[in-house]
Amino acid sequence: VPAEEIVVVYRDLDGVAGIVRSVFGEFGIPVRVVKRPCLGESAVCGFLLDVLEAVDGWDRETVVDVLTSAWFRPADERDRLFLDAIPSLARLAQIVAGYREWTERLNALVGRLNEAGEEEAGHDDPDRADPDLFARYVRHMPDAPQAAQALLDRVDRLASIAVGLPSRAGMCQHLLALERLIEACGIPEAIVRHPVPEVRAAEASALATLRALLAQIYAWCETQPEVVTISRSELLLRLRKAFDETPYEPGDPRDAVACLDAEAVRGLRFDYVFFCGVNEGQIPKAPPSNAVYSDEDLEELERLDIHLDGRQGRSDPELLLFHRVLDVPRRHLTITYRTLAPDGKALRPSPFLEDLIDLFPADAGVLRPPIAASAFVPAPEHAASWRDLRNAAFDGATGLRRVFAEELWRVERGCLLEERRHDSTPLDVFDGVIADEALRARLTERFGEGHIYSVSQIEAYVRCPFAYYAVRVLGVLDIEPPSEEFDTRLMGTLLHDVLQAFHHHYRRRSICDLEETEAATAMSDFLELVFARAMRQALNVPSGVAAVIRRQVETILARYLRHCRKDEERRWEPAHFEVTFGEYRKTFEDPLDRPDPLCLTTSQGKVLFKGRIDRIDIAGDGCARIIDYKSSTPPTKGSMEDGVSLQLPLYALAVAEHLLPDLNCEGAYFLHLGRDKWVEGMDRTSKKDGWPDRRATALGAVARAVQGIRIGNFPPQPQANACRFCPAAPACRYEPARIERKRSEKADEADN
Ligand code: SF4
Repeated sequence: VPAEEIVVVYRDLDGVAGIVRSVFGEFGIPVRVVKRPCLGESAVCGFLLDVLEAVDGWDRETVVDVLTSAWFRPADERDRLFLDAIPSLARLAQIVAGYREWTERLNALVGRLNEAGEEEAGHDDPDRADPDLFARYVRHMPDAPQAAQALLDRVDRLASIAVGLPSRAGMCQHLLALERLIEACGIPEAIVRHPVPEVRAAEASALATLRALLAQIYAWCETQPEVVTISRSELLLRLRKAFDETPYEPGDPRDAVACLDAEAVRGLRFDYVFFCGVNEGQIPKAPPSNAVYSDEDLEELERLDIHLDGRQGRSDPELLLFHRVLDVPRRHLTITYRTLAPDGKALRPSPFLEDLIDLFPADAGVLRPPIAASAFVPAPEHAASWRDLRNAAFDGATGLRRVFAEELWRVERGCLLEERRHDSTPLDVFDGVIADEALRARLTERFGEGHIYSVSQIEAYVRCPFAYYAVRVLGVLDIEPPSEEFDTRLMGTLLHDVLQAFHHHYRRRSICDLEETEAATAMSDFLELVFARAMRQALNVPSGVAAVIRRQVETILARYLRHCRKDEERRWEPAHFEVTFGEYRKTFEDPLDRPDPLCLTTSQGKVLFKGRIDRIDIAGDGCARIIDYKSSTPPTKGSMEDGVSLQLPLYALAVAEHLLPDLNCEGAYFLHLGRDKWVEGMDRTSKKDGWPDRRATALGAVARAVQGIRIGNFPPQPQANACRFCPAAPACRYEPARIERKRSEKADEADN
């Protein structure tokens, strides 16, 4: 059957034209959808509108869309090479909006990435734990500094193009600037170079229509006696409206199946007609409700000889339209309707269809086939697209899997993987349990006796081994998009820095010994200094938000001073701050700092640790205690007893065995700032000394974690609410029942 003898008809094509194009494309059948798209739907016109919007507020998402668009010509090969990195670099630079932010933060980013690159290059241990975000980025992408510089250059290019766009001008001037913009971005060349011929043809047609439209508006404006100036945002609004109202020819093939709406097919004749979407509510279309007269009112008026269109009156033209479509086929008519809406609701056929079927005697040959299973999975001989073939092959036609092994290997692999993920075989590499000897040997080497762990590393493994694997072993980066909100982590840093500066100034003096006004004034002065420094780094925080945060910090610090003025505190002298062991620090050296790590002896051999202790207090009687500030809810005592929170027990070991072995480390506490809430991690003054048990628990947890890391055992095993906000969630697809099944007896046996 020649394609031109086939027509697909819908009551109207709104919402279905795109689907029809893509389904016919999938089956490789040429189609001519007789509903011309408007300029607003074309990619190049969408791009032009994006450029106008981007250079108005320099909002990150819009600017990124423009900079990564296929219609914004790369300056050179280097520029093209780094396009994919633009979204993550913009997030890494913490850009929210504004041209100044783009340039200042990208300049700063180039510097940070260069520094990180140099540090990485000069470091002996490329796998060292806890590198900062910039170092991790450079590890992933060694030429990140060049990519950031290329992005900065691209932003400059966009800015120089923006200079040519007047912020307020007459329409003619705006239109001339738009023409220049099209050339400056390199849109015509980008269209010519586009690899997909259909897209090339459609966008070339859209650009030609756009230019004709601009010329038309220009000619009209020139005839106006007065020049009216409009702003760029007003121009944007007008262009949007004009683009939505201007259709263009997308270049559909001529010898193709036609797809028309019911109005357009009127009077035409085709051999084969597929009348689709014949559902209740579609044909007849649901009548608009009459806001003035109800159906009863209309009947009443009718009796008084006043004729207004009622429900029936509106239905008649629809019935006529339906009959006209029935008149189109010469040989064959197929009518289809949907049984389910996209949201799963049942749909009914059109009442016209029921009436039509009633007209035919039972033996007239009208077929009403039920929906066969093959509607979704066709018989192999009816498979006409790759999707059909795949469905048929994996629904029993195994011969197809052999014949098309080369084409279907990815699906084959995916199926095996999914089967395996859901059966009761033991956890394997797809669930973070590594069996490959070479990989395990590499892990043992990387995390072996020479590796220096941080406490947070071990805690991360304990919280969930799979999350640890994704983030710390594979190095999956989670760069959060910046917002105009104040980063709560920054609040913690602020409090830490002010308290460090304050106690450093009054080293070895208890707050109880300070005069109240003097202490308050000093705290306020240090807050001033620290806050000003923090604000310089957090440029995206609106001044109102910054003022509120400052007030909050002030209140917390004032409470802190009040809470510390207690008799039992008189004994303790804050002596050491931000004490670092296991690494060198660039700034602020405490006399207790030790570059050599804490070495713990566990059942897995020696394990090295590094860390930083907020504060160590000394008492005159040769005792010491550890304070760790928390600006949010601290871990519970129970989590320390269970070996989940390890920070205080390990810091207590560091003080007792590494930093101050001559003193008696009497206690270790989390101090919830602003709440006067102390959570004990070690207290050797109480009658029953629980420290030996807690020490053993902590060492046991460290040993299990280190063993798991070294042998490549990273199953999804979340503690408490670890899955909330977990960056590895899309990869692990954690389902408790699935993991449970894999940990069943059978699986355990196989494991053994
Ligand atoms: S989502 Fe839950 S189970 Fe999955 S990796 Fe994260 S913490 Fe583990």
